[in-house]
Amino acid sequence: MVKCSICGRRAVYTSRTSGHSYCNRHFTDYFSKKVRRTIRKYQLFRPNDHIIVAVSGGKDSLALLHFLKKLSRYSPRWKITALLVDEGISGYRDITIKRFQEIVSDLAINYEIVSFKEELGYTLDQVVSSKHGKEYLPCTYCGVFRRYLLNKAARKIGGTVVATAHNLDDIIQTYIMNIIGNDWDKIIRLAPISGPATHPRLVRKVKPFYEILEKETTVYAIINNLYTGFEECPYARLSLRWYIRRWLNELEEKRPGTKYAILNSLLSILDILSKKTNLSLNEEIDTCIFCGEPSANPICRACDLKTRLSSIELNPDAHKRIDELKHLFTNKYRILPITKQHYTT
Ligand code: SF4
Repeated sequence: MVKCSICGRRAVYTSRTSGHSYCNRHFTDYFSKKVRRTIRKYQLFRPNDHIIVAVSGGKDSLALLHFLKKLSRYSPRWKITALLVDEGISGYRDITIKRFQEIVSDLAINYEIVSFKEELGYTLDQVVSSKHGKEYLPCTYCGVFRRYLLNKAARKIGGTVVATAHNLDDIIQTYIMNIIGNDWDKIIRLAPISGPATHPRLVRKVKPFYEILEKETTVYAIINNLYTGFEECPYARLSLRWYIRRWLNELEEKRPGTKYAILNSLLSILDILSKKTNLSLNEEIDTCIFCGEPSANPICRACDLKTRLSSIELNPDAHKRIDELKHLFTNKYRILPITKQHYTT
């Protein structure tokens, strides 16, 4: 039996980089110290923040919700709302929504659910099975629409900051994907506070689990009864992220500390990029001419994808809007501005 390095009780977790083992209680102390250090170091929250926690119903986001709720005892002016985006992935999201509703009820946290179906007119399942939904991988549609709706909904709820559960593994996977795609402008968005752009309609995004390994959030979720099993999105294995994740896990197994080393490499690159380029952390960005949401281009990525998908069976309002968009689009922008897949967390 592996024993806790601090008290000698049965250990539930061993850090392969430090060699220390922890029992339930001392793992919680270790985890909490690490997350609080990230929050302090990068000044992720302010005393009066209305924190919108982006929750998928999976272990990481439930762990974040649970952790911030506990931490809010020391920040009494914080307000916390859980926000779930239902993409419409049958056999997967319906299970995680159920779990989400049980946990928010246990924690007595207000919550909102926004869905692709209601906001866009179609589910992700409908998108990927449609004739025009084959142009990109499912995760591309999912990621673009989810970020779009998260920001819109967080603003509507009155949130001052969106906390996402991206952990160290997620961050470095995205870093490597963006290196492969030569997307340096997206790499700068991988800072603990979302950057580089500012816009009156853009709600600040923060990543409190930035320095936490995925296996650590899993242990935290298990200890706190937030984890009931491994539900996997049916589209996950189609993505490049899937292969990079496996490769990084194998590498970490053979050379412990590799993941931290890659995160350090990202932090150095972020420093260099913010000093050596004009990608300042306060750079202003455009407004989409169609929807008025923040955008890196005159037409935001979500409106771009919506026009491409316009043949999907939509509700009448969405049809009307898409027709307007197409009309404007054909007259103003004959060449669509974005052709590459997006890999951002
Ligand atoms: Fe969306 Fe891809 Fe994640 Fe599934 S794996 S929820 S499709 S981003």
